Amino acid sequence: MKKSFNDNLFGFDRGHIWHPYTSMKDPLAVYPVKSASGVRIMLDDGRELIDGMSSWWAAIHGYNVPELNRAVNEQINDMSHVMFGGLTHRPAVELAEILVDITPGPLQKIFFCDSGSVAVEVAIKMAIQYWAGLGRGNKQKLLTVRSGYHGDTLGAMAVCDPVTGMHSLFKDILVKHYFAEMPMCGYHDKWDEKYLNEIKDILNANHDSIAAIIMEPIVQGAGGMRFYSPRYLERVRELCDDFNVLLILDEIATGFGRTGSMFACEKAGISPDIMCIGKALTGGYMTLAATLATENVSEGISLCGSGAFMHGPTFMANPLACSVALASIRLLMSYPWKDRVRAIEAQLKDELAPCLNLQGVRDVRALGAIGVVELKQPVDMADIQERFVDRGVWLRPFGRLVYTMPPYVIKKEDLSKITGAISEVLKETDHV
Ligand SMILES: *Cc1c(COP(=O)(O)O)cnc(C)c1O
Repeated sequence: MKKSFNDNLFGFDRGHIWHPYTSMKDPLAVYPVKSASGVRIMLDDGRELIDGMSSWWAAIHGYNVPELNRAVNEQINDMSHVMFGGLTHRPAVELAEILVDITPGPLQKIFFCDSGSVAVEVAIKMAIQYWAGLGRGNKQKLLTVRSGYHGDTLGAMAVCDPVTGMHSLFKDILVKHYFAEMPMCGYHDKWDEKYLNEIKDILNANHDSIAAIIMEPIVQGAGGMRFYSPRYLERVRELCDDFNVLLILDEIATGFGRTGSMFACEKAGISPDIMCIGKALTGGYMTLAATLATENVSEGISLCGSGAFMHGPTFMANPLACSVALASIRLLMSYPWKDRVRAIEAQLKDELAPCLNLQGVRDVRALGAIGVVELKQPVDMADIQERFVDRGVWLRPFGRLVYTMPPYVIKKEDLSKITGAISEVLKETDHV
C-alpha cells in the first residue's frame, strides 16, 4: 500500500530540501503531489489541479501517458543505463536519427547531454573550439541580447540577462560577454532595420573576438516571456554570415511544437550553426538535452588539437531517457499537433483578452501554446499561488508575469478553467 505524504515527510522537506529559486529559511509553499495523469495533478490532500505549466515546458503530452510509460517499461527490462564512452545502443542511435530528421537540414551532428544548461555549455565550447580549429583562437566571446535566459550553470549564466537573470551576485566571476538591446520588434510589429543598430555596432567593433551570437529564437522565455519578430532572427542570421560569427539558437523552451512550428527558427526560415534542445525532448519524463551542430561546425571542431571534443557527462545518452524521447517525438508526430497548438493559441487570445481591461495589466499576448499576462507590478507569489490552487489550476507566475503553457492535449473546457482562473484572480488582486 502506498503511504501518504504525512507530516514527517512534509517537515523533512521544509527542513532539508531546497526547491527552485527559494529560500531555505523562509520558503514559499510547496504542495505534495500524489500522482499526475492527463492534464491533472492530484495533490496528496485529494485536490485536483489542471496543469497550466507542462512542468516548465516539458510535459507536452500531459502525464502518465500510456505510450511513454510503455517505452520506459520496455527499455528498463533491457538496461536502464550503460556508459556512452566506448559503448553505444539502439535508443541513442534511433533518437539521433529522428532528431537529425526533424531539426533544420544543416544540423547533422549531435551531442547528448543531461540538462538544458549543460546543452548550452556544450554549445559555447563547440563555438570556441570551432574557431580555434580554424586558427582563430582569439574568437572566444559571445554576443547575446538582453532579457535572455539560458540556464543556471556558470557558462550559461554569463549569457543570461545581467539584471533579470537572477545571477547578479555572481557577476564578478562570470565571463564578460557582449550584450545588445533585447529584440524590440514585437512578433507582429512592422520591421525596421533600426532594431539592429546595437548588434551591428557591437559586431562592427568586435567581430574578431566574437565566436557566436547566442539567443532564444522568437520567444524569450524565463527572461520575460517576450515574443519578437521572425524578421529580426532572419536578419541576425544574415549578420552572423556577414561578420563570420556562428549562430547558436537555444530552442530548449521553444522546441517540439510549442510556438506552433516544430522549432521556432522555422518561423524565420533560417537554420542555426549550433542548436540546443531539452525540456520537451522526453515529453517531460526524464532529464535529457542535446546540442546539434552543422557538418561545417563539426569539421572545424575536429581540426583543433587531437580533434576530440572534450565533454562527456556520466549519464550521456541515457538509454531510458533516449527511449522515452523517441516515443514522445513519435507520439507528437502521430497526431495533428499543429492544429491543437493553433486552437490553443486562438483560445488563449480570446479568453485572456479581457484581462487587458484591468488597471494593473500592461499587456496580454499569446503565441502557439503560450499565453502571457504581463502586469505593471510584480505579483505577490505566495498569495497568488494559493488563489490559483484554490481554483483548481496549477500556474507558477514569476515577477510581473502570469503565464500558461499547457500540455497540447488539454481540452477546451480545461483550458477555459485556466484562463478563467487567471482573469478572476487578477481581477481580485487588481491594482496598479
Ligand atoms: C530551461 C531553459 C534552459 C535550462 O535548462 P535546464 O534543463 O533547466 O538546465 C536553457 N535555456 C532555455 C531557453 C530554457 O528555457
